[in-house]
Amino acid sequence: MKTLTDGAGFLGDNLAPTSVEDGTSALQAEIFRRDDEAWDVNALTDKAVKEMARLLWFDAERERVSLSHFVAPYAYPISDLHREAAVTHILSWLRKQNIFSMGLYGKWRYMWSDIAYYSGAEATEEIREQVYHE
Ligand SMILES: Cc1cc2nc3c(=O)[nH]c(=O)nc-3n(C[C@H](O)[C@H](O)[C@H](O)COP(=O)(O)OP(=O)(O)OC[C@H]3O[C@@H](n4cnc5c(N)ncnc54)[C@H](O)[C@@H]3O)c2cc1C
Repeated sequence: MKTLTDGAGFLGDNLAPTSVEDGTSALQAEIFRRDDEAWDVNALTDKAVKEMARLLWFDAERERVSLSHFVAPYAYPISDLHREAAVTHILSWLRKQNIFSMGLYGKWRYMWSDIAYYSGAEATEEIREQVYHE
């Protein structure tokens, strides 16, 4: 069992075949912490490995062949209760200026990468129709 911990989620062994040795699989854990909270990356990594071993029934000491971690200083923003109205207002103002917003930041809303891609495709269609009248 090749185990990778990486700051947050669980991917099982759904990675490119060349990313793991033959006969092994990979795990990824994503662990979220607030930016004003004290935390110890080694303690979090150890705990993640132990918990994954307990849940997935493998022997962390004997079967783990590799382990690494990566700290991403910025991950998910936490919105407040005024966000939705503010975003609606900003997007409508931008649209009036002929500015077409798309993607994670353009829409000010969390989205997976496939939806971000679709959002770009949708904006392209809108620009074609409304700016170039195609
Ligand atoms: C922690 C985390 C985990 C995620 N895990 C997954 C996952 O497992 N599966 C999945 O489908 N999605 C996942 N996502 C979501 C995915 O990352 C986004 O949906 C996707 O990256 C959004 O694409 P985008 O092009 O809209 O924005 P981005 O990919 O963020 O691209 C925006 C780009 O604009 C650049 N930029 C910003 N400001 C400027 C500027 N002023 N000038 C020039 N360039 C600028 C940035 O550097 C960046 O390269 C995750 C997101 C986060 C934060």
